[in-house]
Amino acid sequence: MNPKSLVQSLFILLFFSSTAFANLPRQTDVLIIGAGLSGLATAYHLKKAGIPYHIVEITPIIGGRVRTVDYERKDQVTLHADSGMEEYWESNPAVKILKELKLPLKIEGSASSIILSEKLEVLSENENLEGFLKRIFSAQELSAFELFRSKVSPLIDRIQGESPLPPDLMTLKDIAFSEWVQQQKLPKRVSEWIRISVECEIGTQWEQISALDGISEFHIFLGKGEVSFRVIGGNKKFTQALSKFINPKQITLNERVTRVESKNGRVYVSVLNQVTHENRIIEAKAVVSTIPLYRLSELQFSPPLSEKKWEAIKTQTWGSYFKAHVFVPRTAHHFYTQKKSDILPLLSDSDLGVIYEGNPDQKTDTQILSLLVTGYHAEKFTMMPLDEVKKQIMAAFEQLWPGFSKEVQGMEFYRYHPRAIAGWPVGRSRFDALSDEIRTPENQIYLAGDFTEGTHSSGAFQSAARVARQLISRLKGVKK
Ligand SMILES: Cc1cc2nc3c(=O)[nH]c(=O)nc-3n(C[C@H](O)[C@H](O)[C@H](O)COP(=O)(O)OP(=O)(O)OC[C@H]3O[C@@H](n4cnc5c(N)ncnc54)[C@H](O)[C@@H]3O)c2cc1C
Repeated sequence: MNPKSLVQSLFILLFFSSTAFANLPRQTDVLIIGAGLSGLATAYHLKKAGIPYHIVEITPIIGGRVRTVDYERKDQVTLHADSGMEEYWESNPAVKILKELKLPLKIEGSASSIILSEKLEVLSENENLEGFLKRIFSAQELSAFELFRSKVSPLIDRIQGESPLPPDLMTLKDIAFSEWVQQQKLPKRVSEWIRISVECEIGTQWEQISALDGISEFHIFLGKGEVSFRVIGGNKKFTQALSKFINPKQITLNERVTRVESKNGRVYVSVLNQVTHENRIIEAKAVVSTIPLYRLSELQFSPPLSEKKWEAIKTQTWGSYFKAHVFVPRTAHHFYTQKKSDILPLLSDSDLGVIYEGNPDQKTDTQILSLLVTGYHAEKFTMMPLDEVKKQIMAAFEQLWPGFSKEVQGMEFYRYHPRAIAGWPVGRSRFDALSDEIRTPENQIYLAGDFTEGTHSSGAFQSAARVARQLISRLKGVKK
């Protein structure tokens, strides 16, 4: 290590170990488990409400599934790309907070270029969803799609507006989304467009989710479609800004919550330091767990969570995501440019997943393509040796853009738990009574996290707003 890097590393170590983040307190009002978006957003709302809190995070870094990687390359400016989440749809409550925190944002439309029936359909510059579909569909396909849309739009309005959902809507949870779309007798290309658009979001096949949840996910593609927001410089900027707002002194890193005991109206939380293996206990008035669905079983609850809650947790389903960063020289741009405009993001419906520009705000000699591989492609890659993954990605690129693989300078891969994306199978729904059970606090324990209300970061932000409301109504005015 050269002296400059050594000084930098020492500075970072000192900054993160002593200055920025805090030691564990003995007591707090609300102990939040996890410093991902759900935990940080919960603290954001509690700070605004004047309720004391402390966050405990198992890893040495905040962000959870939000991760931005900085690549140092010889003689180049540092490149950055998100190895976790990418974008926020317009209806995501995150957008309001992004704007409040004044983060620089890049706005994109809801339509993307797509490989449809083996043909590349390119979204033109400044073209919105309506214009795009009008161009790629025949007159007959378009009128069938319009009919479908006129049927789905009122359903979405009702799903978003009525609570609890009436029986006629709830029956939609008992049929697969694929089957429900097939019942609408749409032309093949129209139903394929719906399948590919939704499967990228849910990270699994459309047969695996209920019609009720498929319709709920589909809302971003209706009307003119929702725009999406990306944080310029990477999503890490967002989690850093949230941490600054809530005060890093209220976050302790490298601490794993192992056990939550509720007794006499208080909660006692066992926390294991990941470096020293010291186990301490923090006393709190309430605990918010934002541990993701696929890890929740690692936590002990005393007394145990109700059987209904466990039933709700155990009967949810999942989708898979896998990320690859592909390094190419900027001169390779012609492969993904048409008529001088960029064709990315591209829904490839293949091993390449959704192809994004990884570092769109950098004009460097090297460009990163960020592949968000989804569904069974992602599950397959998660289990496969990475050299094999690389071969398969190269082969898929060659099929899409012959000659492109020669341009690839390198790849980096990011694996997630094969169940990292929450979902509801046929027979279950985010709107059913079991999901209400998850959202009901028990023994001063509040479950938050993307899986408690949705599937993505919108679910994370909705859950944070909900637990904050529940806590404010319980704790406001209560003396320590
Ligand atoms: C590759 C990828 C791409 C994605 N792209 C998008 C996208 O474009 N748009 C979108 O909206 N969503 C996207 N998502 C989903 C989005 O990232 C998640 O929904 C969101 O980040 C979840 O936030 P969370 O806080 O609920 O969970 P997490 O981010 O998982 O945070 C939970 C935190 O709890 C910590 N923790 C776990 N156990 C313990 C313990 N015992 N003690 C202490 N701490 C603990 C974890 O380390 C973690 O930091 C993507 C996800 C992935 C994996």
